[in-house]
Amino acid sequence: MIRKTFAAILVFTAVSLLCSGCSPVKEPAGAHAGNAGEASRELFAMDTFMSIVTYGDAAEEAADAAAGEIARLDSLFSVGIADSDIAVLNCEKKAAVSGETMELIERSAAISRSTDGAFEPTVYPLMEAWGFPSGNYRIPSDDELEKLLENVDVSRIRTDPASGTVSFTSAQTAIDLGGIAKGYTSARLMDLFREYGLVSAKVSLGGNIQVLGKKPDGTRWKIGIEDASGNGTLAGVIETEDSAVVTSGDYERYFEENGVRYHHILDPETGYPARSGLAGVTIISSDGTLADALSTALFVMGSEKAEEYWREHADEFDMILQKTDGTLSVSEGIEDRFTGNRETQVIRR
Ligand code: ADP
Ligand code: MG
Repeated sequence: MIRKTFAAILVFTAVSLLCSGCSPVKEPAGAHAGNAGEASRELFAMDTFMSIVTYGDAAEEAADAAAGEIARLDSLFSVGIADSDIAVLNCEKKAAVSGETMELIERSAAISRSTDGAFEPTVYPLMEAWGFPSGNYRIPSDDELEKLLENVDVSRIRTDPASGTVSFTSAQTAIDLGGIAKGYTSARLMDLFREYGLVSAKVSLGGNIQVLGKKPDGTRWKIGIEDASGNGTLAGVIETEDSAVVTSGDYERYFEENGVRYHHILDPETGYPARSGLAGVTIISSDGTLADALSTALFVMGSEKAEEYWREHADEFDMILQKTDGTLSVSEGIEDRFTGNRETQVIRR
């Protein structure tokens, strides 16, 4: 009896101390996540460096699970892993694929149609012609590109979700999810973190950044946007929560010949690296998959078409455009959250 009372008092005291209302020192909102654990991982996957930072009781477990998830998705989507869904499909031209591969191919096709082909998942034969996958860079002839372009077309892809098979209507067609797979992966990692009960985390998959919630101290994440001149400075800083911040630029992967830069974002109209007047496009969206695909697509479109596209889809994303002439502009949805390091124009609806 006495024991029970003693135990009850102990429990009562512990609960009182835990309750912030009774606590002598008030904690800032969100502090609970930071008081628990913090874990970080760095790894190389999907052809790029990645980092993961997690906060919360299950920070370590969630970070390990995230690393495993990245490897699992890489082994489905990578063109360079011989038995991946995509590598097998590209080789056989018809293959049974996993539900996630089917989902990502269908999403790629939908975004391709919505962007009028600026995002083009069948771009792979062009990537090969330029030597990007192998690193044996070369400049293909116009003839060669013209022939390849006949089969660079999203309508060459047939998906049959009922049987789980994907096929191509041409033996020359091959797909490359390099412009969307990292965004799908970062989005998937946010779901995974929620399953582990986390409320705060950040991943950077080779420049594809996605954050869960706010920082553990309750403030918004501050994400630096690299200057597209590639000189190592920042064009500005965006404050954000629960969103992806994905940048595509001509300074990320390229080779040079006779003083000309040939980069890895190809214009599916011409087969050449896109020269649209844009040097960097950053997409901010709660949808990581969309953000990745649109960063590539809007880079190809150029600023005028990108602005038009944004006006039609302003409820889905915001953007930061850096032109080759150095001009910097942001869509009005992030006007108050972006601090530019130089004069910034605001794109309005
Ligand atoms: P990064 O992969 O460097 O973050 P992007 O997200 O812009 O940059 O993706 C570029 C990759 O997307 C290329 O390496 C290639 O795999 C693929 N790609 C290139 N051009 C296109 C295009 N027009 N549409 C879809 N994917 C493309
Ligand atoms: Mg992309």
